[in-house]
Amino acid sequence: MKKVIYMLTILSLLGACTNGKQADSQPSADGGIDAAFEYKVDRFADIEILRYPVQGFNSLSLGQKELIYYLSQAALEGRDILWDQHNRYNLTIRRVCEGVYENYMEDKSSDEWKNFETYLKQLWMANGIHHHYSEDKIMPQFSQDYFVKVVKSVDPGRMPFRDGMAADETLKEILPVMFDPAVMPKRMNQTPGVDIVATSAVNFYEGVTQKEVEDFYNAMKDPDDNTPVSYGLNSKVTKVNGVVTEQVWKLGGMYDKAIERITGWLEKAAAVAENDHQRETIQTLIAYYKTGDLKTFDDYSVQWVTDTTSRVDFINGFIETYTDPLGLKGSWESMVNFKSIEASERTRIISENAQWFEDNSPIDARFKKETVKGVSAKVITAAILGGDCYPATPIGINLPNADWIRRDHGSKSVTIDNITYAYEKASEGNGFKEEFMWSDTERERSKKYGTLTDNLHTDLHECLGHGSGKLLPGVSSDVLQAYGSPLEETRADLFALYYLGDPKLVELGLLPDNEAYKAEYYSYIMNGAMTQLTRIQPGKNIEQAHMRNRALISGWVIEKGMADSVVVLKERDYKTYVVVNDYDKLRTLFGELLSEVQRIKSEGDFEAGKKLVETYGVKVDNALHTEVLSRYEALNIAPYKGFVNPVYKLVTDENGKVTDVTVSYDENYVDQQLRYSRQYSVMPLKN
Ligand code: ZN
Repeated sequence: MKKVIYMLTILSLLGACTNGKQADSQPSADGGIDAAFEYKVDRFADIEILRYPVQGFNSLSLGQKELIYYLSQAALEGRDILWDQHNRYNLTIRRVCEGVYENYMEDKSSDEWKNFETYLKQLWMANGIHHHYSEDKIMPQFSQDYFVKVVKSVDPGRMPFRDGMAADETLKEILPVMFDPAVMPKRMNQTPGVDIVATSAVNFYEGVTQKEVEDFYNAMKDPDDNTPVSYGLNSKVTKVNGVVTEQVWKLGGMYDKAIERITGWLEKAAAVAENDHQRETIQTLIAYYKTGDLKTFDDYSVQWVTDTTSRVDFINGFIETYTDPLGLKGSWESMVNFKSIEASERTRIISENAQWFEDNSPIDARFKKETVKGVSAKVITAAILGGDCYPATPIGINLPNADWIRRDHGSKSVTIDNITYAYEKASEGNGFKEEFMWSDTERERSKKYGTLTDNLHTDLHECLGHGSGKLLPGVSSDVLQAYGSPLEETRADLFALYYLGDPKLVELGLLPDNEAYKAEYYSYIMNGAMTQLTRIQPGKNIEQAHMRNRALISGWVIEKGMADSVVVLKERDYKTYVVVNDYDKLRTLFGELLSEVQRIKSEGDFEAGKKLVETYGVKVDNALHTEVLSRYEALNIAPYKGFVNPVYKLVTDENGKVTDVTVSYDENYVDQQLRYSRQYSVMPLKN
């Protein structure tokens, strides 16, 4: 629950904000990147696909490059696991669609074909048939009859029908899943009062009720266990002969074939590790994949979090639980990266002062950590994105998730600079600021300080926000259930917002003056109260945890500050704008809400947490929503971004010895997805 801050603040959507730290990440010839580097790759539906530069790759040592190569292969091998986790029909649907896409020989100029092509691109982006962000099923904009016609027109020998099934049998299975809006409408259903396990389309559970799953895991928990494993993290729950049971994701278990490939590459990576600590970390991960033992996963997590010296680092496994309605099951993900030395200075300063921030936090003393341990933070350059980090990717990560490991060993927090940089480059001059900001004052502040304060917000959120505070004894970390994720993000964001306005940041040299934080305050509220609505379809509620958190914070401060007009929504020429009248008081409000959200988490106050989220974080003002959508539509900006990966190649001499690893950026979105489906697809079509 601790990861990921998606590219959220408006800077992702804004024009260029070149100041300060951009100098660190300016592309150079060194990474094979020059002014002609093309950031924009593809555009369809509500998606824009970008390309990210891996600055500094060529100046790594040969050993580091080789390590990145093997880890990147391991990162790509898990792709189909995620597809299957999202829904048990995903792999079949994808392969049938790809079979048609590659082999259909007739008319490709019709609207229906073009809509089919868009649909397939949408599936690739979402790693399945449900939208990656809204969780809603993606409805095809071509008819079922058309789909049946094109499937049947392709030579069956070229189609990947499962177990020798004929086209008719396969179609019978997948047509309702694709075309009937009532079948599996949501990947994850969070609607209160319904069985959120039975009504979610994810493949974490099959044939079991929410109550059965909860009873199953509650029976495992020992309230006196001070270092509990992450129960249920790496398994699917089903029933065998009427008995609730787990199918574990491991070598020899579910997802065996993909895991065998992953561990094969990890073995190669271990052989070229930078040091013994890193080698042992990789070997423990392999042992975990072999046994599925969650205690071994914890051992791995401890080794991973305490490796703070290696330049190259990676995530690989069943990590984040956002996609499980019960918050137990880890979605498979991977990211390989290396430390950006210069840019990490910023996070080093924050980490060094971690205790000061904890001591001065506006929360109740009972909920403060006496000692903040091992907050390790760095700025990284992503080298490959895999599983749940691809094509949509976070810009910051904070792991591990186990509360006791964070308590006893700390956590590792990263900000991903080259991804942020690519977002900014791709959004230059798109007119967003001009449309939505109140006046030139806000625009100029944003231009002057926006990039810096946005990055600092991410750093504070990840390095300190998630790691601060503690639970009261006896309070379980999952007592807030589905409200846990949005509230945890709320807490981390508030921590960052509160401290951005603290003079301490100027004193530490992190901000140039006491004016800078206003840039982030303004853009945060504008995004939370208004512009993030561009990501919601008309008539829908807010579902995604980070969006709920931003709506919650913005809605709450607007309401609580109403009497003093601290921050208001103001109309001008029939358009709504955010106007902040009192930045000081706004900061006080952030502190008050932080204190309350920390209390909710520390005491496990489910009812208060639920009320906060449901009151401020879910509902959408329809009139404002309609207005924002139409203003945004006029700008013609895609609300979601995904990425293609660079391509790495081993260079060997005549004896097969590796002499170099090259990186290139010329693969487009369709070619990359089709290649991944050929190269990294070994699982059976339905698990
Ligand atoms: Zn977060």
